[in-house]
Parts: sequence; structure tokens; C-alpha cells
Amino acid sequence: MDAFTYREENGSRVLHAEGVSLTAVAAAFGTPTYCYANAVLVARYRALAGAAPHALIRYSIKANDTLAVIRTFARLGAGADIISGGELHRALRAGMAPDNLVFAGPAKSRDEMDLALASGVGQFNVESPAELDALDEAAQAQGTRAPVALRVNPDVDADTHDKIATGRRGDKFGIDDGEIPALYARATAMDGIEPVGLAVHIGSQLTRLAPFEAAFDRLVALVENLRAAGHAVERLGLGGGLGVRYRDETPPDVAAYGALVERARQRLGVTMLIEPGRWLVAPAGLLLTRVIAVKQAGGRCWALVDAAMNDLMRPALYDAWHAIDPVAEPAPDVDMVVTEVAGPVCESGDVLGRARQLPPLSPGDLLAVRDVGAYGSVMASTYNSRPLPAEVMVRGDALSSIRPRQDHESLLARDLAPSWLA
Ligand SMILES: *Cc1c(COP(=O)(O)O)cnc(C)c1O
Repeated sequence: MDAFTYREENGSRVLHAEGVSLTAVAAAFGTPTYCYANAVLVARYRALAGAAPHALIRYSIKANDTLAVIRTFARLGAGADIISGGELHRALRAGMAPDNLVFAGPAKSRDEMDLALASGVGQFNVESPAELDALDEAAQAQGTRAPVALRVNPDVDADTHDKIATGRRGDKFGIDDGEIPALYARATAMDGIEPVGLAVHIGSQLTRLAPFEAAFDRLVALVENLRAAGHAVERLGLGGGLGVRYRDETPPDVAAYGALVERARQRLGVTMLIEPGRWLVAPAGLLLTRVIAVKQAGGRCWALVDAAMNDLMRPALYDAWHAIDPVAEPAPDVDMVVTEVAGPVCESGDVLGRARQLPPLSPGDLLAVRDVGAYGSVMASTYNSRPLPAEVMVRGDALSSIRPRQDHESLLARDLAPSWLA
């Protein structure tokens, strides 16, 4: 479903988020602004839950950590995958039950472990023998037992961008599969640890099912091995990673993915956990930005806009491609102009889109950078002393602020002068 469509407004056709025009969003909240459509979040969650009806869905908060998004999924019955103490705070504040939280991430500090144990987090995915020892100690100190899944590095290439592949032998994630049987046995003997199963997460933006299958095959072999040794293995986490279509990718459809999860469950008789992030939220958000200036330079047409790499890092960090649509629908006969869309940050990498077919643009025109609901605002920074952008959510005709734009004073408020400079 696409909740972002051109609709009539005052005699012209304007891009809307559900029932709200983006010109109205810009008028009310300014730009740059992240705008999310709640209907897309709900529809995608329901589609995934329908495709994998027996799996426990643990929304990966790092994809989008706004309370409004987390709460939307909490209300639909999701738990969450958290990878920091900060995300734990957010998940609890958003109304997630602690038992429905999975604490993942390659290195948890003792403080984070203490907080998660005291909060009653339902599962810890442990990524090293040292972490297992530390968690055992932390749990014993609180007189409790930590439910643990060991995260396996299955040595599978997810066939995705190098920076978001996480299941290859040389990546920093997980425990080599050869070490799992001995470590699982050791975990069983620990007073502070209750081993419940295994987990993998091989990467993000996977556009084929084969790497998921390969990772799962590795897990099957390990589970059989562990069970033969007399261990109970009740839970299997398949991680997140299901890809979306940004441009011309053809990711597997959710039904095929769900069928894979269900096959895994039936084959091993385990509870399956999945940790989707991107797939649930990427298409639900756009970044609304206004053209500041247009210039011809170096034989190119540049549209300089008020959103930049600090607001949306994906193009600079991953060479990611996001569609960029004009908010005012172009007339059908307009001659498109090949345009570079770039931000105001002083870096040549601050380009949101290269060589885009756009109608002739003027200062003040609005553009929408599409499919930025995942790994968009969460990666925003204040580089160049640019305040963090506003974030809003639409539901039907209702438009709500979910994160006001940062102002210059609050940016400065963290700074202190040493007494000798006062
Ligand atoms: C990032 C991450 C996810 C979510 O990945 P997506 O590609 O956004 O679905 C799930 N599990 C773990 C452990 C992660 O680090």
C-alpha cells in the first residue's frame, strides 16, 4: 500500500501523507521534517504478523526509535529488539512489556546488563564467552537468572552492502559456530544463566531468501548437535534483515519470508523470534525538504535544499538511493531537468540524490525524499550545528508532532565554558 499519493488541494495536485497534504505539514512544522504515515506501519505489521503467525515479532528499535513508532507496534502486540540501555528506556516508556524485549548487540556494558536484568528483559542475545561470564556475574549479583540465546556467526554472506552485512566470518558479530556446543554446555552450568536457544542476524536489506536459508541450515545443524548432547533448545532467533524496494530491488515478498520462518519452526519444534526493523518502517516515512536555491555549476543543475546529510545519512554513508518526488505534481507535459539534489553541509558527500529527473525547481518548492522511515532520523546528527529535524505522524486526517524540531538554544544548552574562559 502507498499512503503517499497526489491528491487535489486548492485546484492543484499535491503529495499527501494519508489525508494530510505535505504543503500543510510544511506550513505547520517547517522543513526539514520527517513525516510518517501510521497506516503504513499498521499495514506492514499486520502483513508480517499474518505471514508468520506463530513467530514472536521483536521490532528492531534502532531502525526508528520515536516513541510514536514504538508505541504503534507495542499496541499491535509486538515486542522489541534493543541494543542499548537507551533503547531499553525507550521501549519501556513506549509501553513494551519487559518480557517481550530481546537485548541484542555485540557489546553490552555492565551498567546496561544491570539495568536490563532489573527491568526483567525477556532474553539476552550473548555474543561472546566473555559477555556470558559478565552476564552470569551480573545476574547472580541480583539473585536472578538471565534467559540467554547465543548469537551464532553462521559465516553466511547476506549479499548486501558491506557495511550492513553482519554474518560473515570476519564480521565482529556473534560466536563462531564451532564454539557454540562447548559454550552452550558451559552456560547450562552457570547459576546466573538460563540458556534458551540460539540466534542469528546476518545483515540488513537482504533482497534474496537464500542467505536466510543458509543461516537457518547452520542453526539446524547446531540445534541437532545440542539436543543430541541433552540440551534443551526452545527458541531460535532469525534476526531481521528483510529488504525493501528503494529503487529497482526485488526483495522476497513477505509471504515467502513468513513461509521460511514457519518451516523453520515446524522442522525444529522451536519458538521462532524475528527482529524486523527496516521492512516495517522504511516505506512509512519521507523527509520533507524545501529548495533554498537552484544553480547551474560544472555543467550540472543543482537544487540546494534545507535537508542535509546530518538529517539523512544513508546516501553519504551507504551510497543509498532514495526516490525524490516533487510535492507539487508536475504537469504531464513538463520537460524534466536532470538535477542534483544536495544539502547545505560543507561536504561534497552531502548529496541526497544525483542525476534525478525533476521538474524545473525554484526556491521555496517542496521535495519529498522517500522511504526514509528506517535508519533516517535515528542517524541524524547536529553536524554543522544544524538542529535535529522535526518529526510528525499522520493518521487519516490527523497530523501530530511526535518530535519537535530542536532549537538553537537547546543545541547550545549542552555546552559549558571552563571557568578560565568564562
Ligand atoms: C539491526 C538489527 C536488526 C534489524 O535489521 P533490519 O534490517 O532493520 O530488519 C535485527 N536484529 C539485530 C540483532 C540487529 O542488529
